[in-house]
Amino acid sequence: MNYTKINPETVPQVILSNESKIPVVGLGTFGSDNYSAKEIADAVEYAISIGYRHIDCASVYQNEKEIGYALKRVFEKGEVKREDLWITSKVWNDMHGEGEVIVSCNQSLKDLQLDYLDLYLVHWPFPNYHAPGCDGDARNPDSKPYIHEDYMVVWRQMEQLVEMGFVRNIGTSNMTIPKMKLLLEDAKIKPVVNEMELHPHFQQPELFNYMVKNKVTPIGYSPIGSPKRPERDKTPEDTVDIEDPVIVSAAERLKVHPAVICIKWAAQCGQIPIPFSVKPEKIFSNLQAVVKDPLTEKEMAAINKIDKQCRLIKGQVFLWPGADSWEDLWDIHGTITK
Ligand code: NDP
Repeated sequence: MNYTKINPETVPQVILSNESKIPVVGLGTFGSDNYSAKEIADAVEYAISIGYRHIDCASVYQNEKEIGYALKRVFEKGEVKREDLWITSKVWNDMHGEGEVIVSCNQSLKDLQLDYLDLYLVHWPFPNYHAPGCDGDARNPDSKPYIHEDYMVVWRQMEQLVEMGFVRNIGTSNMTIPKMKLLLEDAKIKPVVNEMELHPHFQQPELFNYMVKNKVTPIGYSPIGSPKRPERDKTPEDTVDIEDPVIVSAAERLKVHPAVICIKWAAQCGQIPIPFSVKPEKIFSNLQAVVKDPLTEKEMAAINKIDKQCRLIKGQVFLWPGADSWEDLWDIHGTITK
């Protein structure tokens, strides 16, 4: 089926602390072990053809090469120029050493067939490696807790990438308030965004407000509550955003899927959601979500009240020997857990 195009000029943009403008919705490209690199690359090409201008990539998703071919096709068709797109990538945890961040960024640029990235993120604040597709009990005995000096080795290279012109903006992902405080004190170039888990059942108000107050814009991952996340990221206690009666009721009013309500809520409360799908109708409706039929103030207030503090991406595979539980990754007592 062919869905109509959405004029990208009608898609709101968010202005970051350094005046860069980023489209309010991006397409996620992590297939959660369910989709091939080719399917995801085709989704990127389709998304751009119907009006997306923001794509969230990462080296660990193992599909940047295929996405690179898709981007090449897009540019060859001549409908979109490089400067019309916002392309993000991320350095994975096994490339945190001296010199390695630069090598990793250059590899992403080569794979994506680009000569600069709009945004480069430190994917996780730990150098802790797990193999893609591993199960939830997998642990790497070499894993370490957060060490600020080591993180600054990474961040100095991120700053260098800006100075070298390979990257226009730099940011973080999966940070906590205590870690971000240290980085903001020591960074020469401050992060413009933090990519973090955000959806109606996991609103993280304290972290969200801290980021906003410090001019670090929150990009929201798993904005629909990641219904197809890998098995390792599922526990019996997890709640389901798209089945919540408040979300379902707004969806019924607007005659859309509850997923679309999650996207509207995110964009209207100042987040930048990056929903994933390879399916044309879903890709289309997730962009249409921000150009049509906003939620009412009453609906927004009702959704703000359904936070279940339900973290889905717990990150337990990054735990170090001696750590108690996945909560240690998230500094829940307000200090960095060692
Ligand atoms: P999402 O919350 O985006 O959920 C994706 C799933 O929701 C898809 O598999 C899709 O199902 C379904 N869906 C999407 N749109 C609709 C719709 N309109 N109607 C009904 N169902 C819909 O979760 P993700 O975990 O995939 O997160 C999104 C992106 O965030 C990732 O792709 C990645 O780019 C990024 N991310 C970043 C992380 C980080 O550490 N920085 C961590 C996790 C994710 P179907 O498959 O059937 O289409």
